[in-house]
Amino acid sequence: MSDQTVPLYQKRIPIHPRSVKGRFRTLKTGILTLAYLVYFLLPWLRWDRPNAPNQAVLYDLPGRHFYIFGLTVQVQDIFWLAGVLIIFAILLFFVTGLAGRVWCGYFCFQTLWTDLYMMIEHWVQGERPARLRLSKGPWSREKLIKVSATYAIWLLVAFWTGLTFTMYWVDAPTLVVDFLLGRAPSSAYFTTLFLTTTTFVMAGLAREQVCVYMCPYARFQSAMFDHDTLIISYDRQRGEGSKGRARLGKGLKTREERQAQGVGDCIDCGYCVQVCPVGIDIRNGLQYQCISCALCIDACDVVMDNQKWPRGLVSYTSENALNGKKTTLLKPKTLGYGVILTTATAVLIWSIATRSPYTAMVEQIRQPLYTQLSDGSIRNVYEVKLNNKLTAPMTVGIRIEGLAGATLDMDGMERIALEPQERIKLLARVRIPPPRVKEGDAHEKRDDVHEKDDLEHAKVTFVVEALAGATAKPIRRNVPFYVPDHD
Ligand code: SF4
Ligand code: SF4
Repeated sequence: MSDQTVPLYQKRIPIHPRSVKGRFRTLKTGILTLAYLVYFLLPWLRWDRPNAPNQAVLYDLPGRHFYIFGLTVQVQDIFWLAGVLIIFAILLFFVTGLAGRVWCGYFCFQTLWTDLYMMIEHWVQGERPARLRLSKGPWSREKLIKVSATYAIWLLVAFWTGLTFTMYWVDAPTLVVDFLLGRAPSSAYFTTLFLTTTTFVMAGLAREQVCVYMCPYARFQSAMFDHDTLIISYDRQRGEGSKGRARLGKGLKTREERQAQGVGDCIDCGYCVQVCPVGIDIRNGLQYQCISCALCIDACDVVMDNQKWPRGLVSYTSENALNGKKTTLLKPKTLGYGVILTTATAVLIWSIATRSPYTAMVEQIRQPLYTQLSDGSIRNVYEVKLNNKLTAPMTVGIRIEGLAGATLDMDGMERIALEPQERIKLLARVRIPPPRVKEGDAHEKRDDVHEKDDLEHAKVTFVVEALAGATAKPIRRNVPFYVPDHD
């Protein structure tokens, strides 16, 4: 047995990516700008909503309402959230099977914030060689100023990220004032502090380690890959030739010279490695650390352009394409995901579009199940719960049907005006005339008088309909009507 112990913790080697210009960098910057504009500005967007908060997107937890532009979501609509999560999960499978880790490379919060932090670092400390020099050099006045300035700006961004997140739960302008005056709720301070810390640590210090060691998606995404999935790959055949890669040098300057020597197009400049935010070498093949940010494509394109050689030594491709086979994007698996995705999205949209402006629940009060009054008539009592989901007043009417001869008594509340977003509970008494017993009953049969035997499984239907302030289909609730046993 060996005495050697394997360390459980591998010391991080800091990565100082070099900047690069190109089409994928431009695309990433565009997505990043759009994502930040949406995230940071959305809480400040107002929405004309009478009788309710005027913030366009607000998750009002105390009021148990989520406002998303014209849509008001209540707690009981939480299944929509489940629908959204299911749609996102299927979308992830669909996109990953088709185009690999585009989520990681372009849209993930970790990527977006790390990218911004790297831009700040670049802006304050300079290009990669300057940052390397600063990092490896001893502490000096310059190093102290530049590192402090970088950390200060990172902290500011982290703080504003945390505060902005909190603004989605409380009216934004009020929160900012209250926060600065020290009178915001403690939960607001705690949430902001938590997100400030996590943003600073994840995007500033941990960076690629989050993707490599912490993110579960990085681990299981390979299960969604197949031979046709788009991956970022180095064309080994072209780059290495028969004798491998070689730097530009005497007799190895033009493609013709290199090909004559059996040397490939890779000039071993290392630019693709220097721009990589996770610090890997794409020339070593597909690696789970690769977040498919495509910056190595931009880097190699720059090199190829400088040499006036064709682009594509590092490119988006597929395993099948690399092996000289045809890439088929529309496979049964992808089509299956597409169909499920379309169906789930359509069901969610339909559910939201056809939502009722109000809800009505009717529950029987079971203690007692029924009351037999002195004249022999039978009464059941119900609790009716009404919920106006609108931010405007509305009037609803309540009536019963399906139980001949039954009368409804709600103390005059059969027609009721509901305030915006009001929830109320009402008592409803349903009464039927004394039922007849079949045997020996000489009375003539009447439609409004029940025979006791017929009432064994009797039901009454409450019909709640919008009379003013909203247009919707009436809501019908069937509930049992109990009578005494006839023996
Ligand atoms: S290898 Fe290329 S695509 Fe992968 S993370 Fe590095 S730069 Fe991005
Ligand atoms: S950037 Fe292109 S040429 Fe330079 S090392 Fe990478 S693959 Fe080779």
